[in-house]
Formats: sequence, structure tokens, C-alpha cells
Amino acid sequence: MALAEITTRLRAAEVRAGRAPGAVTLIAVSKLQPAARVQAVLREGHRVFGENYVQEAAGKWPAWRAEFPGVKLHLIGPLQSNKAKVAVELFDAIHTLDRPSLAERLARLAQARGACPELFVQVNTGAEPQKAGVLPADLDRFVADCRALGLPLAGLMCIPPEAEAAAPHFAMLANMAARNGLRGLSMGMSSDFEAAVAAGATHVRVGSAIFGPRV
Ligand SMILES: *Cc1c(COP(=O)(O)O)cnc(C)c1O
Repeated sequence: MALAEITTRLRAAEVRAGRAPGAVTLIAVSKLQPAARVQAVLREGHRVFGENYVQEAAGKWPAWRAEFPGVKLHLIGPLQSNKAKVAVELFDAIHTLDRPSLAERLARLAQARGACPELFVQVNTGAEPQKAGVLPADLDRFVADCRALGLPLAGLMCIPPEAEAAAPHFAMLANMAARNGLRGLSMGMSSDFEAAVAAGATHVRVGSAIFGPRV
């Protein structure tokens, strides 16, 4: 099964990179996948999943969580401020903190709930105009502002430009994380997760290589 193959490749990449076994969390990205495929991966025992759309996730996961204890859900798609409340209630981690207004909204929600999902700041490492994420030049300031709001930052996240080699973007993200005292690095997808592990990823987000093409 694809999950077993990807897990094997991930563990081998950890060994090659001199990382501890299991140091990298495999987020199985289940957005837009048929229910039967996700249930098959749940039955195999996998418990960490990624979703892009708050509404889609809210429709699918409460029932699966009741059936399969221990599920951890990561939001890896853009978060609109008006969905922030639903998102902090549904997700264990949010990888797409990308602007001051969202940071302020999340800080208020976290204060009211007394709890906050793990947060990753999305960095637009390629400075692509159509892509979300804090620009590299603005990152240090943004991290400081988030900390001043009391937000628990776990790390940084990036999606490298499609037409470029990913490795330099992974290295840039690792550098920015180290400089800011952040441990978490959410980087690497189906086509490049092994390169991301070599560059220090703590979380890889793998969808189609586990589940097959999205429908
Ligand atoms: C869809 C998506 C993934 C998974 O992509 P695959 O190529 O299917 O592995 C990872 N990260 C983000 C942000 C995504 O939107």
C-alpha cells in the first residue's frame, strides 16, 4: 500500500539525514480525496492528516475522529479570518498564519479558549505575487509581532515555486527558522519530501503519493 511505501521512504530519508527515527511527522494530505481512501489509511493506523479547506474538513472529520481515536488534524490551506473560529476548534495545527490581521484574530480566539493550535508561519520564499505567505524580508518582524501577541509559534512553512528546484527554498526556510529560534519546519510534498527531510523538515505534507490523484 502507498502509505507503507511512503513511510519506508521517509524513515530511510531520516537515516540518510542523520535524523532520529520518527523525527519527521508525516502529514497525510486528504483534501479532495474519496472517503474510502481516507478510511483505508485510517484503518492502517495512520492518524496525522492535512486538509486545505475548513468547510470540507468540518464536514468529514468529526465522524472519523469519533471512530478513530487519536486523529491529529493540520490545516495547510489559506485561512480566511471569518473561518478562524471554526478552524481553532477543529485543527490541532495551522500551517498558514500569513498576516497580522489573522495573528490578531487567532490571539483573541486563543485567549478566549485558553488553548491554541500549534502555529506555523507561511513564508512566500519565492516572493510569488499570487502566493500567500509572509515575504522573507518581513518575516523577523512578523515573528516578533506574533510573539508579542502571545501566540505559540511552532515553526515555518513554505510551498516552493513550481518551476524552481525546491532545495534552495527549503534551505532558506531552515535558515530563517534557526535565526528566529523556531524548531518546526513544514516543507516537502509528494514530489520532494525526501529533499525536505535532508534540509531539516520536521513535518512533510504528502497527498497524492499516499492517496493517488485527487478527484
Ligand atoms: C495539496 C497540498 C499538499 C500535498 O500535495 P501533493 O503533491 O499531493 O503531495 C501539500 N501542501 C500543501 C500546502 C497543499 O496544498
